[in-house]
Amino acid sequence: MLNKLKRFTTSLLPIDENRRGDCNRCGACCKLPYPCPFLRFDDQGLSSCAVYHVRPPSCRKYPRTASENLTQEQCGYYFVTAENLDQTLPRLEPAANPQ
Ligand code: SF4
Repeated sequence: MLNKLKRFTTSLLPIDENRRGDCNRCGACCKLPYPCPFLRFDDQGLSSCAVYHVRPPSCRKYPRTASENLTQEQCGYYFVTAENLDQTLPRLEPAANPQ
């Protein structure tokens, strides 16, 4: 519950610019700390929100920062750091020597 309160109070802050990926509609964040009454699942198990267009910023921006990502195992979003930046960008081959 403390994490939900933290997400609510920080939800007006911007999303961390190091966030990558996309929502895979797992619905895990919609169960924090208990299933949201607006959470729906289709026949294929993909989640949707019954009030998607008016959902609060804490849902709209989840996960806003790495420390607020409580569903790392399932979530399609992730955060790059100086340590893992090398693994997320394509490696550039050195330019061929024109000689
Ligand atoms: S946990 Fe991440 S991937 Fe899953 S529904 Fe929430 S934002 Fe989307």
